[in-house]
Amino acid sequence: MTQREFVSAYIGLGANLGDARQAIFDAVNALKQLPLTQVRDCSSLYRSEPVAAKGPDFFNAVVHLQTQLNPIDLLRACQQIENRAGRERPYPNAPRTLDLDVLLFGTASVQSSELCVPHPRMRERAFVLLPLHELAPHLVQEADLLKVKGQAIQNSSDKN
Ligand code: AMP
Repeated sequence: MTQREFVSAYIGLGANLGDARQAIFDAVNALKQLPLTQVRDCSSLYRSEPVAAKGPDFFNAVVHLQTQLNPIDLLRACQQIENRAGRERPYPNAPRTLDLDVLLFGTASVQSSELCVPHPRMRERAFVLLPLHELAPHLVQEADLLKVKGQAIQNSSDKN
């Protein structure tokens, strides 16, 4: 049987309900337990004001994975981690105990009802671009960083 290739994927993590900082650390640990997957790196923790969402400030980070899962299985694995963290969706953009987004999956472009990769809104969000730039500067253009310069975000400094 041919072994599936490892692909570099980037996951965006966010939380702004309950102990949001701890939720991010727990999610990174949960990503480390995924089958056929290795966590290569995790960005600093960032704190950001909600963008198109309500509630308290978010904690955010980005994780770099190498995975042999296919994109949909990776998305579903991320959704299981969200659900285990008590994620509820009472209304669009509600505060959340944990949100995991598949930002990039190698060079793949996926457009389905369940999954869009690259994540369609990632280049509009400082809380994605700053941690992603920290891990993979070649994936973020200076022009993208300039566009999100006005968004309130700070490096909350503790590395996981
Ligand atoms: P949310 O409520 O923000 O967690 O939105 C998740 C919804 O977006 C789910 O229905 C996913 O199937 C869908 N989705 C589409 N593309 C992505 C992506 N790249 N990462 C995470 N969820 C995605």
